[in-house]
Amino acid sequence: MSERVYIGLGANLGDRGEALLQALQRMAALPQTTLRAVSSLYSSAPVDATGPDYLNAVAVLETEQAPHNFLHALQALELQAGRERPYRNAPRTLDLDVLLWGDQRLDSPTLTVPHPRMWERAFVLRPLAELDAQRVTAAQLHAVCDQRITVAQDPQWAASAVRQSTP
Ligand code: AMP
Repeated sequence: MSERVYIGLGANLGDRGEALLQALQRMAALPQTTLRAVSSLYSSAPVDATGPDYLNAVAVLETEQAPHNFLHALQALELQAGRERPYRNAPRTLDLDVLLWGDQRLDSPTLTVPHPRMWERAFVLRPLAELDAQRVTAAQLHAVCDQRITVAQDPQWAASAVRQSTP
């Protein structure tokens, strides 16, 4: 059975746009997985951290993979992009978070879904609302409206990755 899965992407080191595009292409190429849509590309200030601004987006995929297998695949993509973890919330070449897994709730030591901090982050809620307005309420968006975030590019920035993935 396939599930509709929302993934948050972020990068604030190196060639950020290229890292996000490559991550989308690699996620789209995962077994039993199709990339359905990608939000606009956003630029945001780091939350609870210092360092350069992030580029962020949210992608929606359909996958028949099990959640933990999919998380491991995402972590392998982070490593492939040169991700290091020197300290909590350190700047990063690529961050991939599982935001939503269909309508499921998952709570294991390594995977919590919905992502526990997603409701505090404009860089998640704004692109998520763009992809699926029913997933985010006006009150939730209002709660993060003081966070600095702008649209850097319209959704066409990732159109080639979506096209290549569609069977
Ligand atoms: P981060 O430093 O933000 O990449 O966090 C990675 C850690 O969070 C890993 O140890 C994951 O097992 C754990 N984790 C728990 N829930 C999630 C989730 N929904 N998406 C991604 N990582 C998660």
